[in-house]
Amino acid sequence: MGDRLEDGKGKKMLYKAAVIGSGPAAWTALLYLARAQVDCVVFTGHTQGGARGGQLMLTTEIENYPGFPKGIGGPELMELMEKQVRQYKNVTCVEEDVLEIELGSRPFTLRGGRTCVQAYSVIVCTGAYARRLDGVPGDKEFWGKGVSACAVCDGALPIYRNKEIAVIGGGDSACEEALFLTKYAKKVYMILRSDKFRASKIMERRVEEHPKIEIIFEYQVKKIVGNDTVTGVNIAHSKHGVEKNLEVNGVFYGLGHNPSTGFLRNQVEMDEDGFLIRKNCTAMTSVEGVFAAGDVCDKRYKQAITAAGMGCMAALDCERWLSEHKL
Ligand code: NAP
Repeated sequence: MGDRLEDGKGKKMLYKAAVIGSGPAAWTALLYLARAQVDCVVFTGHTQGGARGGQLMLTTEIENYPGFPKGIGGPELMELMEKQVRQYKNVTCVEEDVLEIELGSRPFTLRGGRTCVQAYSVIVCTGAYARRLDGVPGDKEFWGKGVSACAVCDGALPIYRNKEIAVIGGGDSACEEALFLTKYAKKVYMILRSDKFRASKIMERRVEEHPKIEIIFEYQVKKIVGNDTVTGVNIAHSKHGVEKNLEVNGVFYGLGHNPSTGFLRNQVEMDEDGFLIRKNCTAMTSVEGVFAAGDVCDKRYKQAITAAGMGCMAALDCERWLSEHKL
């Protein structure tokens, strides 16, 4: 399977389906399309720079993906999914990001850094990335070594068990992170920069009533400190700036997620946060022939297994749509 992009005369290649992404949603969609004998192309993103493979490439051990009783590393799971897809000759891989897409005329046109193709249908599986405390000292240094943005993925790891942990943020994600972490941690601090929660009332009440959770309002993280792993956070009051240090062995961000949908702006319907909107419990978007799967359209579940399930749905919807339109 080589990069089959031009016909030698500079003409763009035309595919029945183009998949954008390389996380569980994308590989599952491709597996179903490949087995349905749909000629397709996938833009996987760069290998360098972290885009390829999605968020699972940043996850250490996954213990909640069925079929792996001893758990499996995130990158290893992605490698296995890719290997399974690469057995099929009707899938062409392009290791580039889609920089531009034209959905206004058919077939659709997709442009990467070097490659331009056309496709009758598109499945968007570009995911979402967790917001981080960019620029805060220690964020980069301890990422994956005491700093995480996924309690479900990392919370049960030995470095966090029976330890004191800080969760940053006051939305539903932060509350979920904090509540999940109470299963393993000795104590969980929730650090909010403002004087109130952004979360739903029910989540707010749950964290307030939890005996293991202490809420610290109006403090912002100035620095994450440690040696090999995290040993503490330095926080400062949002108004008067007075600083204090908390001894914690983990910092979990619950700052929300940003979907990777910038390249689709003004072309496909999104919600106010940029997540793609799917129609009537299907994978269809507002543009006929464009489908969405995984975290790019999911604020609620955000799991590898749910993304894979949505990838399957998108491929089935896409294949049916191609057949209905005799494409
Ligand atoms: P969110 O509602 O946008 O909350 C983000 C939180 O992070 C806010 O408390 C915000 O503080 C804080 N924050 C952002 N940047 C920060 C920074 N640099 N320093 C400190 N704090 C910072 O995001 P979310 O919790 O992911 O929720 C997004 C949407 O998904 C919501 O509609 C939510 O209801 C939904 N959701 C639902 C569920 C569920 O139903 N189970 C689970 C998760 C998410 P400020 O308030 O001060 O801005």
